[in-house]
Amino acid sequence: MVVSQWLDVPSTDPNDARRRKLLNILLVGMGILTLLVILAVSVGPLLGFREGLLLLYGGSFAMLLAVVLVFVINRYWSGEVASSVFLLVLTFLPALVDKPRQVVDGRTLWMFAIPVIMASVLLRPWASFIAAGLVSVLLTIIALSVSLVPNLIATLGFFALALVSWLPARIMERTLEDLRVINRELDQRVEERTQDLAIANRSLAAANARLKELDRLKSRFLSIVSHELRTPLNAVLGFSEMLEAGVYGPLSEKQVGAMERIVANTKRQLGLVNDLLDQAQIEAGTLSLNYAFFSPTDLLDDIHATMSVLAETKNLQLTCDIATDVPAMLSGDRQRLQQILMNLVNNAIKFTECGAVHVSAYLPDEEHWMLQVSDTGTGIPEEAQPYIFDAFHRVDTSTTREHRGVGLGLAIVKQLTNLMGGKISLESRVGLGSTFTVELPLRVPTKEGAL
Ligand code: ADP
Repeated sequence: MVVSQWLDVPSTDPNDARRRKLLNILLVGMGILTLLVILAVSVGPLLGFREGLLLLYGGSFAMLLAVVLVFVINRYWSGEVASSVFLLVLTFLPALVDKPRQVVDGRTLWMFAIPVIMASVLLRPWASFIAAGLVSVLLTIIALSVSLVPNLIATLGFFALALVSWLPARIMERTLEDLRVINRELDQRVEERTQDLAIANRSLAAANARLKELDRLKSRFLSIVSHELRTPLNAVLGFSEMLEAGVYGPLSEKQVGAMERIVANTKRQLGLVNDLLDQAQIEAGTLSLNYAFFSPTDLLDDIHATMSVLAETKNLQLTCDIATDVPAMLSGDRQRLQQILMNLVNNAIKFTECGAVHVSAYLPDEEHWMLQVSDTGTGIPEEAQPYIFDAFHRVDTSTTREHRGVGLGLAIVKQLTNLMGGKISLESRVGLGSTFTVELPLRVPTKEGAL
């Protein structure tokens, strides 16, 4: 990590950054090599080598100094200047550390290949040719200065080497450039898509806000309308019941029959308006529960008393039973619990032609209590079971078409159950019957009387 930080040189031009990093790597390699040479030269006399050691020593230290200098120039000034200096050092240093004959024709000659090869990767691909030219001129000058024949074969070799290093360097530069173009195009596309997404997100957010506002308006509208309908309907029902009871004078048999139908229809209408109002309040989040102590036995007795008349009209048996371990008193919203049971029992009677409807209360565990309504009626097809708890959804069968309803009952039951911290489940088989189970948290009054 730290090494990589030192090798990297920040630059706006990626080619420049790549070349400067490469130069740093070469410098590190060269530095280590020079240190090894210094070490070898230091132990040379012990092994019996003496000749030329001083020159090699000096050359190595000069190289080490050059490495540090080039590193500093590369890091803090310019990659091109640093590379040029480094290549010049590599070109001239071998000429200074050996005898002219060895340089022109002998053991040191190969060292001039290094700057030729490196020039193509450290500067531009064509720089190899310049390096080859420079090396050839230098070698010719050295040869002439000591009356030697210039080494033409070596000169040709250096130019051939320059050609061989130029080609891959050029291919690599082109490939990198192509890759950068592809990268730029990709970046642009990503940016365009991101902008498109941001625009789509903004319009989605606006549509969402509008939907929320519409939903709020719908709930408010429903609540106002339901209120306006409920008050006059209650008055109609009250007066009709008084008329039916003969409070305003005796009625003929025909009039009593008509009044009974008025009362029944007004009650149905009122039930519907009440459901609409409840649904609107639940959706608006304004429906609150009134917790109080109540007796579950009384609750089931009331249900039995209210609904058995309806069950008898269809020759159905309505039975209620409560398990002995259910506490005598519980805490909850009795009125809403009654509403839940009335809805479930009403449906059970509505969709059962023969058999029985059974209501039970029991404890499945120490933290919950259950209210269960089972019938032996038509049952609910499996594909309809997930949606019958959604508002205004009904199963489209001849039985449901026969019974009037708007599909709000179960939706309200489910939402009330959820509000109470409970959950509702359904088991049903077509032709065999249905069982709705409401599971609620068990809230037993404490001795101090907390709810
Ligand atoms: P509604 O009774 O007004 O249609 P509900 O929400 O109470 O609305 O019921 C939705 C639908 O679920 C009913 O239309 C009926 O198809 C089905 N359903 C509910 N309870 C029963 C039941 N006990 N047996 C058979 N089908 C039922």
